[in-house]
Amino acid sequence: MFRINFNKDADNNLNISFNGEFIDDHQKLFNRFVDIYEIEDLIFEPDRKGKMKPKNERVCRFCDKRMPEVAFKKDAHVMPELMGNRNLVSDFECDVCNHFFSKYEDELARFMGLSRTLSFMRGKEGLPKFKTPDKNLIVGKDEESSDPQRIQLVSIGQENNHFEIDKDKKTLTVNSVKHPYTPIKVFKALLKVALSLVENSELVNYPKAFKILMSDEYDDKIKGLPVLRLFVWVCPGVPFPSPLVFLCNKKESKKETNAASKTMILYFQNYIYQIFIPFDENDKWLYQKGGEITFPIMPPFLDKTWIDNFGKPKFFNLDLSSSELKKNEKQIISMSFDNVKFDL
Ligand SMILES: [Zn+2]
Repeated sequence: MFRINFNKDADNNLNISFNGEFIDDHQKLFNRFVDIYEIEDLIFEPDRKGKMKPKNERVCRFCDKRMPEVAFKKDAHVMPELMGNRNLVSDFECDVCNHFFSKYEDELARFMGLSRTLSFMRGKEGLPKFKTPDKNLIVGKDEESSDPQRIQLVSIGQENNHFEIDKDKKTLTVNSVKHPYTPIKVFKALLKVALSLVENSELVNYPKAFKILMSDEYDDKIKGLPVLRLFVWVCPGVPFPSPLVFLCNKKESKKETNAASKTMILYFQNYIYQIFIPFDENDKWLYQKGGEITFPIMPPFLDKTWIDNFGKPKFFNLDLSSSELKKNEKQIISMSFDNVKFDL
């Protein structure tokens, strides 16, 4: 992996440097990305509890309410805990909004499906048990083993073809099915993370984004908008130890470039998710009919030698603009193994 060095100077400016070598394709993406965007902030998992405002001074960023109208008793996680975030909490999300967002997070969990269980293979936390909607595939901790890293896959019905094993390549492919989820709610789970990371002074640029986040009233109107997309890298090898987020700003000199003003790139487990923050007031011209939007992609910070060892990350993008329930979506996950025990 790359070594990312950074520090903040007295004016809170981020100085960042990278130590590593991209493969050629990724270097090209990187050059294009940094031509248009600059990294505004790098957020990882410190324990920020010490710096939090006292509860009676807090104002909820999402509903604008304060005590005693709302309470701030719960820990409000900036990124969902299901992405592996334990300590990164905010002091501007009230308990009511926190509860409201948990519905989006449930959708995100269903969208992530089996990958949650499989990515946690080397994690410290208990493994979430996964069952397909028909309950014919069950994946979870191997209860008979004392090794917490061992998972057990139970497949009922040979015709379901849940596993394909390649003994030579030492890969196991699991064919699974996701539980139903609503794409726009998955997008909103990620939008909430992004809007939690935007500086206070810049919140004025996102009234529309907040409205869309807090209500389903506009869901029909935003259906099909290209900006409501998720760009995904699936990175083979060891999962990222804890979540890491880049918040990037379009450079002042690139104002005229037809890309969104801000983009968020979120590293967690074996995944990198990138979204472009929609409905920025500065981007109004981008959403006019007939316009074209470009999506500069930040390549994964995986070093050449890492890719030689574990393979190339896969990239794809998804339209998450629909409010229609997505049912029976297939999920295919491949992984490598050292040894496998068969109980047929
Ligand atoms: Zn609130």
